Amino acid sequence: MIDVEDLIALVHNYNPRTNADLIRKAYAYGMRVHEGQFRHSGEPYFSHPVAVAAILTEQRLDDATIITALLHDTIEDTKATYSEVTALFGEEVGELVDGVTKLTNLQLSSTQSKQAENFRKLFMAMSKDLRVILVKLADRLHNMRTIKSMRHEKQAQKARETMEIYAPLAGRMGMQWMREELEDLAFRVLNPEARNSIIRRFITLQREAGDVVYKITADIRTELDKAEIDADVYGRAKKPYSVWRKMQEKELSFSRLSDIYGFRIITRSEADCYRALGVIHQRWRAVPGRFKDHISQPKTNGYRSIHTTVSGRDGKRVEVQIRTRQMHEVAEAGVAAHWSYREGVRANNPFAVDPARWVARLTENIDEDDHDEFMENVRLEMYTDQVFCFTPKGDVVQLPRGATPLDYAYSIHTRIGNSTVSAKVDGIRVPLWTRLKNGQSVDIITAEGQRPQASWIEIVTTGRAKAAIRRSLREEDRGRFVKLGRELARGAFDHVGRKATDKALRTAARMLGLADEIDLLARLGSAELTVRRVLETLYPELTQASGDVVDSRRPLVGLGDDQSFRRAECCLPVPGERIVGITYRGQGVVVHAIDCPALEELEDQPERWVDLNWHAGRHAPVNTVKLDVTISNDAGVLGRICTLIGEQKANISDLQFVDRKPDFYRLLIDVDLRDLEHLHMIMTALEAETDVAEVSRHRDARRKP
Ligand code: MN
Repeated sequence: MIDVEDLIALVHNYNPRTNADLIRKAYAYGMRVHEGQFRHSGEPYFSHPVAVAAILTEQRLDDATIITALLHDTIEDTKATYSEVTALFGEEVGELVDGVTKLTNLQLSSTQSKQAENFRKLFMAMSKDLRVILVKLADRLHNMRTIKSMRHEKQAQKARETMEIYAPLAGRMGMQWMREELEDLAFRVLNPEARNSIIRRFITLQREAGDVVYKITADIRTELDKAEIDADVYGRAKKPYSVWRKMQEKELSFSRLSDIYGFRIITRSEADCYRALGVIHQRWRAVPGRFKDHISQPKTNGYRSIHTTVSGRDGKRVEVQIRTRQMHEVAEAGVAAHWSYREGVRANNPFAVDPARWVARLTENIDEDDHDEFMENVRLEMYTDQVFCFTPKGDVVQLPRGATPLDYAYSIHTRIGNSTVSAKVDGIRVPLWTRLKNGQSVDIITAEGQRPQASWIEIVTTGRAKAAIRRSLREEDRGRFVKLGRELARGAFDHVGRKATDKALRTAARMLGLADEIDLLARLGSAELTVRRVLETLYPELTQASGDVVDSRRPLVGLGDDQSFRRAECCLPVPGERIVGITYRGQGVVVHAIDCPALEELEDQPERWVDLNWHAGRHAPVNTVKLDVTISNDAGVLGRICTLIGEQKANISDLQFVDRKPDFYRLLIDVDLRDLEHLHMIMTALEAETDVAEVSRHRDARRKP
């Protein structure tokens, strides 16, 4: 275990102004609280945080980060608390340690590739400060370096996590060496055979061709010397994992793989980068399509370098990267370069990317003008517009900030959203409008037969959920319209002595250019289409005769010439409805609707029943119907209602208020109209009016027929 003075010396090398006393205090505190704990290897546990701190000194990080590394497992694994750590080491360290603890507590049970990106985002979202991720990466690096002492199954799980989440995260932060080492350590666990065989091939190659790296490095040096360019040249075989990945991607065997060696030219100036490039391209043939100038177009994480691939006499390709010393530092340290110290002050590498700017590019939702404010402190809010939650299986679901359990449910599947009855967040039942937070696990309770409520529209934030709820509500409406349309069609077809069979309706739908009979019924029900139109289409011979001319014959079929008739006051049937006649002594025939309750008393007197039908064709608009209408008590509403009825070419013959509340009026309106279809059109028009709360046909069973 590195002792405290050695650790301080490591920091002092790059930061002479380090607060050595505070590091000593953290070291002593960490040692004390981890007392009696041991690693799988048998070493004292505290050797791990110290090693993590040492890794971070290689990146020349500030005191707060080094102290955080020493304390990073205290809150999680010892009796130390957030408030104690904050009291002893200040708020900055307290926040950082707390941040690392939160990441440690995440259950990364699922490491499917499609989930990995979400996990990485979750990491960023949960870290208010990028240094939290730097510590977490160093923590993982040390754990991977010492993975041998872990149980076998645990090794595989940690290695997969490392490959899927941590290594790409290091890459995204621009820390190439960290990415490569993590990949190699994980590869060693996950596929030792492949790794060994690649290493063996390199050894064989070296035996056959000699030290290729040395030879090419010397060649490049010679060429640069000739051109009087002062530069360092490094060469190396590529890492087994990146060779293996290339073999997989290109489906090539090792021997057919080119550019397994990489070379780096580190120059003194940017101008020399381009001069060196000219020298290389003059001496060796450039491979088309492989030249990239990341100096004039740096990557968002600050990476700058020229890349080119050239082929030598033997046709073997080698990749050459050309950059300055400062560019090289950024390429190795990545975003961490921003915090690096050199001789006691912030290194101020001109190519180090401002982490705030970097994050802004990553999330692309931060105003350009806010950057200076970000620079002030290194606290960062990443993915502020998103929230990441876990499924019960441990998958991560990405949602916009403000999302509720309903949004979550719809993001899993529309069927789950539609049948949601309640939700549990972290095991506790919560209302459906609860706003979800990062890292929470969500469990949706569903029930068959549950339908989306109109109020859900207000609860959800995602477009997907909104659209699904609206669609479902619309379908429910449509169901109602279809039912209504079917009744309407049945009555009207009966009226002309036909049957509204599915086949007939389907034919009509086709002739009218509609999708199918359901579409036709829905249109009938919503008054987009009239029954008359349907009948005209199907049976032109029936309707042509009458046309728009009102039939002046007596409206009823089945009455004797001498028989008088009137419509029953109780049910007020209209043409188009199924009816029956009842004879009354001295009163002729009274016409009832077939479903009129008054008929019940007459069931035992069949001799008084007369079969009646309305005449086909157009009737005079003289059949009064009572409508029970509830409207809001606002200026002009009643006038609008009357206009609406008039527009439907119906006549209001009486109007009476039944109830007056401060907000609503209820009234009975007597409307003279033509037939059932006419009635339906009027009711549909009224229902569509926003100030009409309710409209129904009023029938008074107590009234004498
Ligand atoms: Mn640790």
